[in-house]
Amino acid sequence: MRGFKERVSVEAALSWIDFHARRLDPEVVPLPGLFGRILDEQVISSLDVPGFPRAMMDGFAVMAADTAGAQPYNRYSLAVVGESLPGCGFAGRVLRGQAVRIMTGAPLPNGTDAVLPVEKVEFDDQRVLVEDEVTPGKHIACTGEDIQVGQVVLPSGRRLRPQDVGVLSSMGISKAVVVRQPIIRIVITGNELLPPGTSPKGWQIADANGPMLEALVRRDGGIPINPGIVPDEPDSLLAAMTDDVDVVLVSGGSSVGQEDYAPALLMQQGELAIHGIAMRPSSPAGLGRLGNRLVFLLPGNPVSCLCAYDFFAGPAIRILGGRGKQWPYKAVRLPLARKLVSVVGRVDYARVRLVNDTVEPLAISGASVLSSTSRADGFVVVPADSEGFPEGTQVQTWLYD
Ligand code: AMP
Ligand code: MG
Repeated sequence: MRGFKERVSVEAALSWIDFHARRLDPEVVPLPGLFGRILDEQVISSLDVPGFPRAMMDGFAVMAADTAGAQPYNRYSLAVVGESLPGCGFAGRVLRGQAVRIMTGAPLPNGTDAVLPVEKVEFDDQRVLVEDEVTPGKHIACTGEDIQVGQVVLPSGRRLRPQDVGVLSSMGISKAVVVRQPIIRIVITGNELLPPGTSPKGWQIADANGPMLEALVRRDGGIPINPGIVPDEPDSLLAAMTDDVDVVLVSGGSSVGQEDYAPALLMQQGELAIHGIAMRPSSPAGLGRLGNRLVFLLPGNPVSCLCAYDFFAGPAIRILGGRGKQWPYKAVRLPLARKLVSVVGRVDYARVRLVNDTVEPLAISGASVLSSTSRADGFVVVPADSEGFPEGTQVQTWLYD
């Protein structure tokens, strides 16, 4: 066992990520798979939506000029000469003094320029009695009301929302160019570990990091691959770390203990760029490369694992997938309910709870107490140059939800 000689600053680790994490190449994805993906092209409409003027109410399509002067005591009678239904318009031309029965969404017949809502008229099969004036364009959606030819509808870099997918479809677009999703191999190590969801007995520990990392990777737009626990043994570990993926997350064995093989493997087979970071928890974290893969060595203690993921792996995965490297957490500024003690020289990840609009520290130490992060509403990052904050200090709190 060798101790860490010195620890790298969090900033240095982050700059290494900035330098080495690159957005992946684009790929074409069909419409049904586009939700949540990151557009890698600007989408410009090649058509008007709608492509024709259409009725916005059920009623009668008329020439507005034919209603000029109509009043309840001076009703005009127009001849009903046909009907226009959605997808099945009126073929002819409507003349002065005529009207066409029309349904919402149906094309406005030639010769008409307004719709009289059905509630506003009396009618039978032959005629409609107009008792109010309408202005041209009334109750009509004009051509291109929604989207016009040549309009930039969605910018490159956009994370596609459900409604964006609908908009693409409305323009007749069946596929789009998006950033490829990074594939993330999750390597869970530890001979004491049981598969997720198995009841631990004796000296066993049920794997908490695997399911947590899978969820984090999904949140950040990656595709997690986690076929099962890998024994603490160099050959199996190297085989898992050399899978054909974009990023490898090794959970456990990241430190300098006798069963901590991942750092040495990375040093021999690739590059162990950073090992040991001035932070708590997560100080035994490491970053490096193996072939084209970015490799993150995440400490096994679950809070350390979560924290190291959020500080380093998460931003890298989001950059690869075309998302921002920023945390996907909202921040609020609120006063501390109690003082928050830290140590100069390391960054602290303090779990906190919000109580009556104040920030109550829950835990700074206790890297193994994962439930502290479930009890917490979020966390406060105490910078390396700070000894902590006195009660009442306004602190930036990152909210998990
Ligand atoms: P390690 O980083 O491998 O030295 O592990 C540190 C501590 O975290 C040990 O108590 C492990 O049992 C625990 N641990 C490691 N991996 C996991 C895991 N996947 N889920 C829960 N606890 C873990
Ligand atoms: Mg271990």
